[in-house]
Amino acid sequence: MSSEARGPSRAAPPAGLCDTCRHQREVRNTRGSRFSLCARSRQDPAYPRYPRLPVLACAGYERREDRGA
Ligand code: SF4
Repeated sequence: MSSEARGPSRAAPPAGLCDTCRHQREVRNTRGSRFSLCARSRQDPAYPRYPRLPVLACAGYERREDRGA
């Protein structure tokens, strides 16, 4: 088994606006990497499921009010 430089504790890249948007869903793969999924993509094909990060401007952005309180 070879050792990997990238472990599960690797920091996720900032997702820009998505990180504070109520439409963001966090998805993790089996290797522990985190992906930012846009839930708006389910209803509107104008939004990519996995937007290119960081998102700096987005017409669909809506601030998430509470973060787990
Ligand atoms: S609506 Fe825009 S800002 Fe919000 S999660 Fe989707 S791409 Fe990101």
